[in-house]
Parts: sequence; structure tokens; C-alpha cells
Amino acid sequence: ATPLDIQNIRRDFPILDQEVNGRPLVYFDNAATNQKPLLVIDALTRYYEGYNANIHRGIHHLAEQATAAFEASRRAFQEFLNAKHWQEIIFTYGTTDGINLVAKTYGRHFLTAGDEIIISTLEHHSNIVPWQMLCEEKGCILKVIPVDDNGDLLLDEYEKLLSERTKFVSCVHVSNALGTVNPVKTIIEKAHEVGAVVLIDGAQASSHLELDVQALDADFYVLSAHKLYGPTGMGVLYGKKELLDSMPPFRGGGEMIKEVTFAKTTYADLPYKFEAGTPNIADVVAVKAALDYMASLGKEAIAAHENDLLRYATEQLLELDGLRIIGQAREKIGVISFIMEGIHHQDIGVILDQQGIAVRTGHHCTQPLMQRFGIAGTTRASFAVYNTRDEVDRLIQGLRRVQKMML
Ligand code: PMP
Repeated sequence: ATPLDIQNIRRDFPILDQEVNGRPLVYFDNAATNQKPLLVIDALTRYYEGYNANIHRGIHHLAEQATAAFEASRRAFQEFLNAKHWQEIIFTYGTTDGINLVAKTYGRHFLTAGDEIIISTLEHHSNIVPWQMLCEEKGCILKVIPVDDNGDLLLDEYEKLLSERTKFVSCVHVSNALGTVNPVKTIIEKAHEVGAVVLIDGAQASSHLELDVQALDADFYVLSAHKLYGPTGMGVLYGKKELLDSMPPFRGGGEMIKEVTFAKTTYADLPYKFEAGTPNIADVVAVKAALDYMASLGKEAIAAHENDLLRYATEQLLELDGLRIIGQAREKIGVISFIMEGIHHQDIGVILDQQGIAVRTGHHCTQPLMQRFGIAGTTRASFAVYNTRDEVDRLIQGLRRVQKMML
């Protein structure tokens, strides 16, 4: 891939052009949410200024225009994920919502006492808690794939956990806390060998990796728009058609029905069966601009740039005395988590912020993973396409200042 013109790309993100505490902003909190290009912001404004209307029900011009744009986003996600059918793309409010949908419909309907669910040590709380709730309700058993000291999943241990009792495997594609890229194709293959159904949490993978749910043979794949340069409050659940068809609906209400009488209700066909109520139309419409934007840059070129930053930042960070990177997995993307001897991560975050540098500190919604490494939290720098080596240099200078002030 041809290298990207990052200075040009930065002009697409108006938020980056500002000072924080008297210094040019360095935004390294991209794993929490990344920034939005003007194209996305403009798409939101165009929707509200030009064709805001409730979808599917109307026969008037604006309703038709809004419905067309809404459904065009669905087709765009079908292409983005390489789903076989457009009906397999369900709009949600985000990754958390997508996982809860699957746990509360597929899980509740098909899992019973004694069935085993496997997750991994790398999971975000949103891929732990819904399964624990299901286990509590149904008497299922939760098993966890361990990680080694580098933050790589132990696949041998995973294979030992798998048995005919395994009914569901739910695993993160890329760890938001450590950046580990998991071998999800292998994880899915092994699960299918024992007849288990698999959900992949793609929240962190979606803006970095080329995605192909058919090549992966994923049964479910979930993501959040706000982590792929799109708006907040919107996400996608991909599910294989035959699975989605077999599942009961999630929320009841308007839009998800065929016919309602007081005696009985019949449900709409896919995907509408899972889209009760007025959806987040504006954000669904606008996220298409984010997908188009990423496609115009090329996922491969984006990943190449972020990997360069990752390598450069890793080298530079390791020069600092007493700094330890948590998680040096075989394959990583976009994220560096680290701790510094004798300095609390919160102090690091505050002092960096004073210098205009935004990082995340704490447990990153992965408390069990932090427990695995025997720490309370880390400082995390995470990269997006608009970040530069100069910004990494700013981070290093900032951390030297932290050391000077704290040690
Ligand atoms: N999984 C992973 C790996 C994440 O990084 C996140 C967001 N930090 C989530 C799930 C939850 O996503 P959301 O808050 O958008 O629902």
C-alpha cells in the first residue's frame, strides 16, 4: 500500500486542531473512541437539515429519502463485513448492545443448565457480564481461556476447555487493553468442531483490520461505530441468517412486528425483527461516511501506518527507565499499555494531560485481565490513522517530565 499523507488526513479531523493546556492536542485515546472526519459530521448535519423523518413507515418524500439512506448503510456494512445477506446486518446501539442481544435471545433460548460458555482473559467487561448474567439465570458454566505473560491466548488450554458441553464461545478479536490480535479463525474452527456457536467482539478490530465474516466463518460479529470514525450510540450485530431466524426477538415494540392483535403478535422478518422502535437513524445514516472514508484511505494503508507508530512508540518507550509494557503479543495493533515503576497510572494521566496529551489510565474495562497481570491498571496510548511520530515524541518527552516530577 502507498503510504498515507498524514498531514492531509489530519485536516479531515477538525477536533485535532486545538490546544489543550496551552499545547497542541495529542490524542492517544483512540481505543476508547476515535475522532470523526468532517465527512461524518457533515453527513449528520445534512440529515438533520435536509431529510430528517421516521423511516419505513412513511410514504412521503422525506421518509423515503431517510429510509433509503438508512438501508444504504446496511448495504455498506454488508460489504464492510462481507456478509452474504443484507438481512444479516442488525443495527444496534453498540458492541455492548449487540452482545446483550445475543446473550438474551440466543443464550436464553438455546442454552440450559450445565452448558458451558467459553470466553477469554482478554475480554472487555461487556463480553463478560452478559454471560455471567446468563449463567446465573440458566445455570450455565463460564470457562476462561488463559493468556501467557505476553498477552497471547494459550490455545492449548483453549482446546482442553472445549468439549461436547461447550455450547458457546465469545471472544474478542483485538484486545482494547493490550492490543493483542487473537487468532479468531482458529478459535472459531475449534469451536465448530465441537458444535459450539461463536461470537466475535470486533469493537477494536473494525478500524484496523480487514474483516470478512464469511472467511472467518463467524456466527456472530459485533462492533461499535464510534470506534471506526463514526458516531456514538450506533453499532452492528452480524449474525448468520439461519441463526438469527431461529432466535426469538430481543425488544418488543413498533417496527419489529408483522401483525399485532391483543390475542397474538407475529414478528417481522430479518433484520427488522431485532430493530424495535425508532432506531438511531441519524447515526446509522452518518456512519456510512466513515466506512467510505476508511475505504478511500485503504484498511491496509491505515494498518501499515498504525503499525509503524506502534513499533516506533514501543522502541522509544522501552528507552525509559522503569517502564514496562504490559502485553507484547505476537501480533498486536494500535495499542500500548504500560506501567512505570513507582508512579501511579493516574498521576501519569494527569501530568500528561497538563501537557495536552490524552491517554487512558486505569483498568480499561478489563479488570480480570489486570488481575491476571497483578496490577490495578495501566497507562494506555492507542493510535489512529491521524497520529504521527512527532506525537509519539511528545509522549516520550511528557513521560520524562512525569518521571522528573514524581521520582
Ligand atoms: N469490546 C471491546 C474490545 C471494546 O474495546 C469496547 C469499548 N471499549 C467494547 C467491547 C464495548 O463497546 P461499547 O462501549 O461501544 O458498547
